[in-house]
Amino acid sequence: MESVITRATYELAPGRRPQFWRLAMRCTQIAGTVDVIFFFLFQALGSPVLAWVNVVSVAMYAGAYYALKNHRNKIAVILIWAEVLGHAGLGIVLIGWQSGFHYYLLMFIPAICVSAPRRWAVFALLALWGYYIGLDGLMWYIEPLQPIHQTALHVVHLFNLSVVFAMFSYLASYYLRMVVTAQRNLREMATTDSLTGLFNRRHMTYLAEKEVARFRRSGHPVGLLLLDIDHFKLINDAYGHEAGDRVLRVVADVIRDELRAQDLVGRWGGEEFLVILPDTDSANAQASAERIRNAFLARDWSAVIDRDADVTISIGVSELQAGEDLSAALSRADEALYRGKSGGRNRVELETV
Ligand code: GH3
Ligand code: MG
Ligand code: MG
Repeated sequence: MESVITRATYELAPGRRPQFWRLAMRCTQIAGTVDVIFFFLFQALGSPVLAWVNVVSVAMYAGAYYALKNHRNKIAVILIWAEVLGHAGLGIVLIGWQSGFHYYLLMFIPAICVSAPRRWAVFALLALWGYYIGLDGLMWYIEPLQPIHQTALHVVHLFNLSVVFAMFSYLASYYLRMVVTAQRNLREMATTDSLTGLFNRRHMTYLAEKEVARFRRSGHPVGLLLLDIDHFKLINDAYGHEAGDRVLRVVADVIRDELRAQDLVGRWGGEEFLVILPDTDSANAQASAERIRNAFLARDWSAVIDRDADVTISIGVSELQAGEDLSAALSRADEALYRGKSGGRNRVELETV
């Protein structure tokens, strides 16, 4: 039991699930507003006791809202639970099961499932179920303590049903949005390099394999560029790692700017990049590579590393051949790149087939 409480306390910590607590704040606002409406509704229906219950409820929601705002989540949760359980119970006992106040209890089910650790959730769901069944059972045996007119009861029932309907719809769509956003963020994290924003090596490999498959089907040429910044270690050594990172980001932009929308660019290693050029033979790939190399020469690098320095790049070019796999074409681009390095750098070299 102690570990359940420790775990529950951990889950209630303000830093955990910030979206959930933001949603909880929104819900306290909505619920508080509903209770203000209730106040006037019950006044109009001639049930002042139930009307004044809502003043307490609004105060509790206001308290829960400020508790959440000040990261006192535990207090807020206790206030919300007490309000919903108390209000639903009181409504049922005073005017009857048909008032539909019990529907509000159902709203705790998804809230418990998404917010609580599993063991605690089972415990809370059982308690909720017991309370619900208990109220239902009780109302089989007793008459409502403050019955209201049948028509008024019907109005209250419809009101409660509609509010719960609307709140469930709102919560469901909110959760859907949250899941979709989380999925998008995860996908982005899994496929992009955080420093440059380019595709990472894993995703580039996946995309390259797709291009290979497409090439096998259609026979459209696929060009590959392997790019490596020249003497990058010296840039790091001379200007610092931070400046090196800045250069990497700009390099990524320079490469991207020189390519077409359908070309794929990824960070292949530390200061090495891979470009896949669909529908491009080696001659055109070489032309693209020259364009990139020239863009490096045209760039004012002193604005990036604060000194009078230049950044150049060497590029190896290859084209996918029939019957071979990706690694064969890559290693030819790598060999070409190596020739570019040993030939003095700042060069584009084409594969030798
Ligand atoms: P070459 O012209 O032969 O390619 O020489 P080089 O200095 O560019 O190549 P080398 O492989 O010797 O050094 C690469 C350097 O890149 C070493 C490593 O510290 C640096 N590097 C790799 N990843 C990062 C990074 O994310 N940020 C920074 N600032 N430096 C990096
Ligand atoms: Mg290098
Ligand atoms: Mg390298």
